[in-house]
Amino acid sequence: STPAAVLSAISAGGRQGVLFKGGEHIETAGNVDAIAFDKTGTLTEGNTRLTDVRARETALSTDGGALDSDLLADSALEYNSNADDRLLALAAAVQSRSEHHLAEATVEAAADRSLEVAAASDFEAVVGKGVHATVDGQTIHIGNPRYVETVLEDRSIDGREIGLEAVRNLENKGKTSVLVVSETDEELSVLGWLAFTDTIRPDAAEMIEQLRERGVEQVVMLTGDNERVAQYIAEELGIDEVYASLLPEEKVDHIEALQERHEAVAMVGDGVNDAPALATADISIGMGGVGTDVALETADIVLMSDKLNRLPYAFALSKETRRTLY
Ligand code: ADP
Ligand code: MG
Repeated sequence: STPAAVLSAISAGGRQGVLFKGGEHIETAGNVDAIAFDKTGTLTEGNTRLTDVRARETALSTDGGALDSDLLADSALEYNSNADDRLLALAAAVQSRSEHHLAEATVEAAADRSLEVAAASDFEAVVGKGVHATVDGQTIHIGNPRYVETVLEDRSIDGREIGLEAVRNLENKGKTSVLVVSETDEELSVLGWLAFTDTIRPDAAEMIEQLRERGVEQVVMLTGDNERVAQYIAEELGIDEVYASLLPEEKVDHIEALQERHEAVAMVGDGVNDAPALATADISIGMGGVGTDVALETADIVLMSDKLNRLPYAFALSKETRRTLY
């Protein structure tokens, strides 16, 4: 039977918005000495917004089509052309079929501009890379540079270099960015690019500090987002170990590597792409406010509010409870 101390910890946790899905998790949580965080929706708010829309034709200067890097850098300020609207409407058509946070932000931005969004068919998602679908008789691909490298591979794409350079510039500013590529029978062509930002949770840095104070030796970030954006956010939060551009199975590999060196490894995540890593960790923690159903079902502990200080609290409560048991 469950010891009284564990039952009382479960109910104390409940009052503070920490849902332990079983007494055994209190014992494990009390031992955590390494913790891995997903980025999007966990360390950030997950309220992704579209900030830049740039049709390739409007990114080219009028004198012969040379690349104007200042124009690229400030593309949000330049947003006003019909070409940008057409690009956004096409992207929204594809993304209306996806539930990804980048997709939701794209559809929302098109709605804000009252753009007419066509129907898309043959939608397909490529995990950690992007999506494609048929719109108006052409295939529209939306994805990150890895999508271009692996899905479109070595096929020749008109505007490839300009598009990749623009995306790199935007990523350097901490923005998650994707290319939009059209495919017809004749050719592949970069139509433009989109960039997004998300807000770092205001209490995330303090939470990381509290975890370290409470004996967590190693804190890492595991994200499907690109390296430059991940580094930018990690620096803001005082996380020194970052692994970016990860597919769901690669997040699992990192959890397993941590397990070789630590007593108990916790993983905190919110997305479908985190589910395998959550299942591998010794203790998995889901975010109640924003998490997907899959992540919440997999989680051993659910933080019912989005107050991140509930996490160090949960570990402290567990540690204290263990002490009364042994
Ligand atoms: P995470 O939640 O850790 O950021 P994901 O695996 O969900 O990781 O996404 C990783 C990357 O894959 C995104 O940053 C984006 O570049 C690309 N991606 C995934 N889904 C989409 C989509 N619907 N549209 C465009 N890009 C996508
Ligand atoms: Mg996430």
